[in-house]
Amino acid sequence: MNSPGLANALAQPCPCGTGASLADCCAPLHQDTRLPENAEALMRSRYTAYVLGKIDYIVASTVPAQQPLLDVAAIEQWSHHTAWADLTVHQHRPRIGKHHAQVHFSATFDTAQGRQQHDEHSAFVCINGRWYFIDPTVALPGLKQPCICGSGKKFKHCCAAVLV
Ligand SMILES: [Zn+2]
Ligand SMILES: [Zn+2]
Repeated sequence: MNSPGLANALAQPCPCGTGASLADCCAPLHQDTRLPENAEALMRSRYTAYVLGKIDYIVASTVPAQQPLLDVAAIEQWSHHTAWADLTVHQHRPRIGKHHAQVHFSATFDTAQGRQQHDEHSAFVCINGRWYFIDPTVALPGLKQPCICGSGKKFKHCCAAVLV
């Protein structure tokens, strides 16, 4: 039961800039009908979720142990009050360890002061075949405590090692 507006949006080029339509790019990830094939695809789908205001997806694509710690109101503010312009993926390092990847990207957005750029090196972890974003801004465990990803390793020997 898609509205004409939504059907139209799905036919448009995906905001993440792959050149594919939203329906063939990030939408199936948002709807959980397809898993992101790698960390870059997950990162792109998170950008598109920010553009479209899909806050639930921003939360769901973060490491599960971090989800309750996210400042959802702040994410919502940032999503809704930002005039997103475009996304550039500079580098995708798909395997920086057994279960980790990094993506360097920049997102541009327009403000009253002109166009601004948000540049980020994001870290991702694969848990049971599914990629998640590791949020470096929420409270993290001590280095000797169990890792947030549930690997059973100490945090310092696992996800801490890939956070930039
Ligand atoms: Zn996309
Ligand atoms: Zn870990």
